[in-house]
Amino acid sequence: MSAPACPGCGETRVASAPAKGTGTAPFFVERCRACGLGWTSPALSDAEIADWYPQGYYGDGNARFHPLLERLVRLFQTRRARVIRRRAASGKVLDVGCGRGFLLKTLRRLGFEPHGVELCEHSAWHARNRLHIPVHVGALSTAPYAKGAFSAVVFWHTLEHFAKPFEMLALAHGLLKPGGLLVVAVPNSESLQAAVAGTDWFHLDVPRHYWHFGASSLKRALDRAGFTVVKEDHFSFEQNPYGWLQSLLNLVTPRFNFLYDWLKTKSARTAPLRKNPKQALWTLGLAAVGAPLAVLLTVLEAGLRRGGTVEMYAVKRG
Ligand SMILES: [Zn+2]
Repeated sequence: MSAPACPGCGETRVASAPAKGTGTAPFFVERCRACGLGWTSPALSDAEIADWYPQGYYGDGNARFHPLLERLVRLFQTRRARVIRRRAASGKVLDVGCGRGFLLKTLRRLGFEPHGVELCEHSAWHARNRLHIPVHVGALSTAPYAKGAFSAVVFWHTLEHFAKPFEMLALAHGLLKPGGLLVVAVPNSESLQAAVAGTDWFHLDVPRHYWHFGASSLKRALDRAGFTVVKEDHFSFEQNPYGWLQSLLNLVTPRFNFLYDWLKTKSARTAPLRKNPKQALWTLGLAAVGAPLAVLLTVLEAGLRRGGTVEMYAVKRG
């Protein structure tokens, strides 16, 4: 298989490794030997990609997880909104891939004017109809926003899903005011958990994740797009302990992402639990033992600046 040059740095030496996905089709991650940027191969068409986001992916009534977990997710979103509040001037804020709109709702409470972008009508429904937030459905490139209109643009675990992330960063640069804040969170392919778990790494999420950034390849992409990184955070209690736990379970149990599937609401699950009672018990027991270890490992990898996910806060230059 001949690999194309790296879109991040132009290097042509690329390594290819098989990647475990949630489906049956074989996928590979191509990785640039120079900058470490990775991408999923084969590339899927937009129609094929849509098949990986069935309505169940978002859950009934747009709730994906158990109500207790949903509350926890809300708490993390409040913390995130406060960090943005501290670093961005008041005005319009854009969340690209805003999901149900909870981050935007909190940002509105903190004085911002919220705007969102979503893939389809179904995923935009909650933000629009329940929270009354304006959401553009479709590509960011077709959104009716004026240049320089926004104080902050957020890609929260969405940049890795887009076919053209470098184009997205350029669009965000155009939409931001000078000095405006760009917030990007992605799984970190240079993390300790990625190195330990390999193809069993939970945050690899092939083929939904088309791009596999590491902290350094993301930083390079932001710099090339005209941003200066002002804060880099490797400690995410929202993402990283779970990334460890599920990756460790994937290494020792036969079914991939079984616990994750279980934590979803019934409508979002891919396999009924009743058919796997033995595995459910095993998984629970292992999870109870593994959870404290996962927290410890999260602290360790954050200390090493090799967090399972990384959050970058960057300012528009010029
Ligand atoms: Zn490269």
